[in-house]
Formats: sequence, C-alpha cells, structure tokens
Amino acid sequence: MKNNVYTTHTLGYPRIGAQRQLKWTLEKFWRGEVNNTELESVASTLRKEHWKNQVEAGLDYVTANDFSLYDQVLDTACLFGIIPPRFQWDGSLIDHDLYFALARGNEVQPALAMTKWFDTNYHYLVPEVSDTTHFALQSQKILNEVKEAIALGHTPKPVLIGPVTLLSLSRKALTTDLEPISRVNDLIPLYASLLKSLHQLGCDWLQIDEPVLSTDLEDAQKHALETTYKSLAKFTERPKILLASYFGNLEDNYATVLDLPVDGHHVDAVTSSTDVHYLSHRYPANKVLSIGIIDGRNIWASNLKAKSEIIEAVAGSVAREQLWLAPSCSLLHVPYTTDNEDNIEPQLRPHLAFAQEKLEELRHLANSRICKDARQAIEKSAIRHFQRITAPFASKPAVRQQCKELNTAEFTDRIPFNQRFEAQQDQLPLYPTTTIGSFPQTAEIRAIRSQFKKGKIDLVSYDAKIEKHVKACVELQDKIGLDVLVHGEFERNDMVEFFADKIHGFAFSQLGWVQSYGSRCVKPPIIFGDVSRAESLSGPWIKRAQSYTKKPIKGMLSGPITMLKWSFVRDDVPLETVALQLAVTIREEVQELESNGISIIQVDEPALREALPLRKSHQAYYLKWAVDAFKLSTAGVLKSTQIHTHMCYGQFNEIFDAIVALDADVISIEATRNHLTVLDSFANSHYPNSIGIGVWDIHSPRVPTTESMVSLLKLSSELIDPKRVWVNPDCGLKTRAWPETIASLKNLVNAATQLRESHLAINN
Ligand code: GLN
Ligand code: ZN
Repeated sequence: MKNNVYTTHTLGYPRIGAQRQLKWTLEKFWRGEVNNTELESVASTLRKEHWKNQVEAGLDYVTANDFSLYDQVLDTACLFGIIPPRFQWDGSLIDHDLYFALARGNEVQPALAMTKWFDTNYHYLVPEVSDTTHFALQSQKILNEVKEAIALGHTPKPVLIGPVTLLSLSRKALTTDLEPISRVNDLIPLYASLLKSLHQLGCDWLQIDEPVLSTDLEDAQKHALETTYKSLAKFTERPKILLASYFGNLEDNYATVLDLPVDGHHVDAVTSSTDVHYLSHRYPANKVLSIGIIDGRNIWASNLKAKSEIIEAVAGSVAREQLWLAPSCSLLHVPYTTDNEDNIEPQLRPHLAFAQEKLEELRHLANSRICKDARQAIEKSAIRHFQRITAPFASKPAVRQQCKELNTAEFTDRIPFNQRFEAQQDQLPLYPTTTIGSFPQTAEIRAIRSQFKKGKIDLVSYDAKIEKHVKACVELQDKIGLDVLVHGEFERNDMVEFFADKIHGFAFSQLGWVQSYGSRCVKPPIIFGDVSRAESLSGPWIKRAQSYTKKPIKGMLSGPITMLKWSFVRDDVPLETVALQLAVTIREEVQELESNGISIIQVDEPALREALPLRKSHQAYYLKWAVDAFKLSTAGVLKSTQIHTHMCYGQFNEIFDAIVALDADVISIEATRNHLTVLDSFANSHYPNSIGIGVWDIHSPRVPTTESMVSLLKLSSELIDPKRVWVNPDCGLKTRAWPETIASLKNLVNAATQLRESHLAINN
C-alpha cells in the first residue's frame, strides 16, 4: 500500500542504538555477562524500533538486513561461507563464537583485517578469498530479518552487498595469485538462490549495494558486473532488483550502469545532481529511479526547496510511479536524532538533521504536491537554510580577511631540509628514540577528566592531578633513556574534540554517536562557522613537561586535515576553505609553542590518506590543498624548530608525492605489520627527510623484543641513511597498559642503543 506521491525508502538506518544499547550489550556479551538469547533480544528490540521509526516517518518500505551485530561486510562474508581456513571451520551454520572470532580474533587466530569503508570513517572487515574458498549459503540472517519485519506487519526491502563490491573489497589469500573478482561466477548461483528465497517470503524489492560504481572501475569489475546482473535477470522467481551506488557520481560508468538489466537504480544526487539529470533524459520507462536526494553523511538540515527543484526537473522526464526518493547513502554514517540535543547552541539546533529528521525531510519532499504542510515545511527549510549560511555565527570577516591575505610564500618558506637538519639534530644521537604522544589512559586518568567535567573537582585540584601524571610520565621517559620526550596527553579525551573545544566555529552534540567499527563509536564535533583559535589549544602542559627535564619535549597537535575529516563539516563553503582556516589556527598554536621554548613539534595527520577522493581524477586537487594546509600550519617556524608528523598506516604509494611535499622534518609511520615494505617506496623515491620507523605494533598487547626491533632497524639501514632514521612505536600508547608500555619502551631504547654501537664500530 503506497503512502506517498513518490515512493520513499532509506538505504540503511543507524544500528548501534540511540543510547548505544548494542555497544553495551556486545561488550557484556564478550565479557561473558550476557548470553546469546539476551544479545539477540536486544538486537531484535533495536530492529523493531528502527522499523517503527521508519514507518512513523512515512517510508513506503522499511529496510531489512541493514542491521548488524558487528559489520555488514562480515555478515555478507558469513552468508556465503567466506571463512579463511585458519579458523578451521567445519562448514556448519556460523554461530556467534565464529562470527566474533572473525571480527575480533581469539586466543589462537588473529581477526580479519579491518579497513575503511570507501571514504568514510566506518571500518569493515576484509574477507579473504582464495582459489579454494568454497562458497555456500551459510547464514539465515537476511531471511530471518525479512521474516521478522513481515511478522511485525511491515513491507521490507532487504539490502545485500552485491558480489562485485564484495569481491572488490576482499583481499586474496596469501596462498593464491587469483584475484577475488575472478571468482564472481561461483557466487552468482548463491545470489540467485537467495533471490528465490526472498521472493518466496514475499519481498517485492531487493536493494543490492554496489558502491564500487562510484569508483574507477577496472575491466574485470565491469565484466563481473555485466555477468552478474545479466545472469540474475534471467531468473524469474525473484524480487525486483534496485541497484544502489553511492558516495559519488557514476561519471564514466554511466554506460556500464545503464546497460545492466536491473529493475531500478539508486544514484547519489548529493555529491552532485549531474547523474540524475543525465539519467532522467534517457531513462527507460519501465525502471525505477531512486534519487539519493538527502545527504546521508552529514548532519545539516537540507534546503528542501533546492532539493524539490531537482526532483521536479527529473519528474519532467520520468513518470511519477518510477521516481523514488531516499537519502544518498545508508544513514549508518549519522547519529539517530536531534531530539535529545538540549545542550547544543540553541541557534544551531534548528539547522541540524540526524537520521530521523532526514526521514522527515524525505516525507515532505515526497508529498509537496498534495500536502500543504509539506509545502510549508519546504518553504521554511529554504528560509532556514538562508539564515544558516548568512548567520553571524557562520562567518567571521576577520578570519576571511586573514585567509585572503595569505601569500604563497607562507606555504613554501622553509629553507632546504639539509640546512634545517644541521640546526635541529646536533644535540641528538644517531637513531633518536621518541613516542607518538599519548601514554596509557588508565581508569584513574579518565576519572580525573570526567570528575572535572562534571564539576565534582575544581580546576586547581584537576590541574594538580594531571600535573602529577605528566611529571611522572616525563621522569619515567627520562629514566628509560628516550631521547625526545612527550607530556603524555593525559588531559586529552580525543585528538580532535580536545582541540575543537578551544576553537571558535565548532559545536558538540551530546548523543551524536556514529559507529566506527564493531562496538566502537565516535562523536564527531560539528564545524558550523569560520574557524579561529579561541584560546591556547594545548594549554600549559607541554611547557610544564619541559620544566621537568633537560631533554627536549615534543609538542603534540592534530593537523588540519585530521580535524576536518573527523568532524561533521559545514557544507556552505568548500572543504579547502575550512582546511585553510584550521591551518591558520594551528599555526598560531605552533608559534606559541615555539615561543615557549618547544623546538620539536609534531602535527599528526592520520586522516590525510583517508580523505583522499575515491576517483583518481579528483585526487590531485585534494592533495594540493591538503598539503598546502599542512605546510601552512607549520610554516614560519625557525630553522631550528623540527616539525614531525605522524600517520598510523603504511600504505603511501598513492600519496607519496604529497608526503614528500609536506616537507616535514620527520614522519613517523607504521612499519611492523608490513615488515618494512613501506620503506621501499621511501627508498625507491629517495625520500629526502627523516623517517620515524614504527618498530613496535601498538595494536597488539605483545611486548616486542629488542631483537625483533634491532632486526627491523638493521633492515631499514639497507634502505635509508641511518642518519635520517628515528625509532618509535607505530602509534600513540593510549590503549596500552603501563607494564607492557614500560617493558616495550625499554626494549626499544636498547634496540636503538645497539644500532648506534654497531654503527660506531663499523665507522671507526
Ligand atoms: N598523538 C596521538 C597519540 O599519540 C596520535 C594518535 C593517532 O595517530 N591516531 O595518541
Ligand atoms: Zn597513529
């Protein structure tokens, strides 16, 4: 039964629970405090609530199988029995034990690898496919969720990741040379069999997600798409297929996509409306066109008038019955609702739309032709949008002026590295040792921060408590024999929120949680206006730390791209404008640190690569402004001030030129998990500056031995001039415990000492 003038649906809904119920229950389940039945009952209560919300917002379909206990890619791998042999699975139906072992590892097996889902901050688990993977339907999850929705009286449209995206995101097992995509023919019959089961349950539509359609496709992928959808079209006992692409435009994939014999397409009309305009003019009369009209990845209320103009233009060439409306992508990437955000700046609140509010927006768009209230809401949204982009809180003339007056010299004014190097390194030994910044965040540390935040202790007592930890941490590093020390970051809850709190133009939600992976959530700050420094960003701690030691203290800051990427960003100015304002803000802090006698400053950019556009043709432009922003944030320092940066990963191939262009004096990188293969690109391209080799994999509780680190460092000296090598862990230590931290750092210092000695012996 159809409710709206245009059919409305969503590609997916948040699932962690508005109060993060799923998170708390999962963590109890893993600790053995709740059983399978209790976990399932929380999960089904959540699904029930989500469907109810969708119905109340007037959607014509509710989405099924968008729920997950951990990750939708892992669910799909389990559905088709894609389990690496090392898990010694006997082929029986996959239970929670195996499912969570794949997700999190167990006593004997490490978990599947985890990586970012396209260009979002959501992480998925990477299936491993080999020539011997035996695909077979091994899970009832999708069918059960469809039955559950039907039993509750809903009309479900289940969602499933398509085979081409699934295989494109999989990695080939170490035992094979076969590319996963070449096994697509073995998956097709299983998709067909699922289609039949869904048809028998009474599903009219199945949404198949192929977000690879918004990326540069290789021939093998195009071929796989053609084979898959031509084969599936031949089956008559099946729901209609809505093929969904999102996170970008189809661009040169139009022809590939339009040729696929599916029953409907969902396209992203938020990135730009080019796709819908192009498609609508040549769209076949018998297919559904679902327009992703509401931004599914950001939290701003839409200008519905502008949106409805796009819809009406498409409606000029596509019949009303053919036209569906939806958010651009799954709402997994936004929080649940603004309902309980009572503490956010009152002027900002009417401008926010989380998942539930976005569904309301859809309802208005779908009914403007027949409903006066909808028309009024649309008019109002246009006025509200105008108010937001012209609001005094959105623009600060002084900030705009300052950015306008920046001249290019400010991006490029450092003297050559070799000259800086001499001024910077003369006090440091060969193979200097340091850490990435944070030290263990114990329950005690968290309690101090939370008591202060809740007003249970005053500033004087908070300061004294943090000071005690900073002092102890500096003294400990001194005693262990590290060369460049840090203050430990005990005052910081999060590397973005902590700074954002001291910058004009940022706001903070109370319950704006978004799933990052499994039970982990993040609460991104909201950049709503021009950005400028409101107060010292790092506070007194770095300077105080310096007073406890004669060794240099490294000042720690987060970089402009990371601040940008890990926030919800205003959509009324280009991203690069915000990046530039952040850079100017951070530069002020860099200069303050320098004038306080701090001569080594690290500007972390773990999100630099993550923000890389999906399309190669868009990457150069992004890298240009991203590099400019980083350089600007560190420009203007003395030649003796050493700039470090840190990135938590070891894949630099695509962005290597940009890494060189950053011209940081030292870049610390991950090198252990990839067995130093990361150094190849640095060596091959004669990377000129220094590299901090992450010889300790801090994502594992294991204490690395001195020998293991010595051998990595020896290997590195075959590739990189030892004079330019630093020794450090591969990321911050905040998730580690103290005993392993102390033991590992001692080994790390020993490893560096051994290398120095053998280097001296060779050179004497
Ligand atoms: N300085 C931060 C820390 O040590 C860096 C964190 C990160 O790279 N994500 O925690
Ligand atoms: Zn890191």
